Amino acid sequence: MIISEQKSFEEMLEYLEGDKKVFIVGCGDCATVCQTGGEEQVKEMKEKLEGEGKTVTGWIVLNPACHLLEVKRGFREKKEEVNSADSLLVMACGNGVQAVADASGKVVHPALNTLFLGSIQRFGQYLERCSLCGECILEQTGGICPVTRCTKGLLNGPCGGSKDGKCEVDPEKDCAWELIFNRLKEIGQLEKIKEFRPPKARSKGQQWRVILERKAAASG
Ligand code: SF4
Ligand code: SF4
Repeated sequence: MIISEQKSFEEMLEYLEGDKKVFIVGCGDCATVCQTGGEEQVKEMKEKLEGEGKTVTGWIVLNPACHLLEVKRGFREKKEEVNSADSLLVMACGNGVQAVADASGKVVHPALNTLFLGSIQRFGQYLERCSLCGECILEQTGGICPVTRCTKGLLNGPCGGSKDGKCEVDPEKDCAWELIFNRLKEIGQLEKIKEFRPPKARSKGQQWRVILERKAAASG
């Protein structure tokens, strides 16, 4: 899940300076779960903007905002409200904001900061778990990501500085490599710790994105 937080209302108002009419877009997926861009937050935002003298021409919560066909379908239903707005305030992750910009051709303003790909511990507490490196090595590390969870992003074992199972850089954090060692031991795969993991091609994720974009363009 994409974890997000709302930008400050003051920052949003700066973006909207000069725009009298605004259409609000929420997301029924991650931003709803994070309570940053679901229906409740969209309605709250409508009230706040109207309190600042803005005209909200309409709103929609897309399912999800990053699904281009869904965005286009939603905007067809709200054509007049979207077209009559000076701009769109998008309460979705950066991906959703871009899908909305592509589908609408309108000026869009992001209402959220996209933080990371993570899991939910409980509401308001998220665990950062994946950095989208494009070359997943969880098979070799017992399902624990060293790229994301080791503070130094080490791929081949600990730095040697951990103390009592905690990271030398951030003693609040468990040492990722100690977690990996323990997990591999528990599941009977400790031999995997000896496998060499070559440095990551950091451009790989970017390359895949380019390939996928080309395929999407080719299929119309
Ligand atoms: S190895 Fe890469 S793709 Fe796999 S979880 Fe870690 S960052 Fe994500
Ligand atoms: S102590 Fe552990 S988590 Fe921290 S940087 Fe070293 S190996 Fe990574």
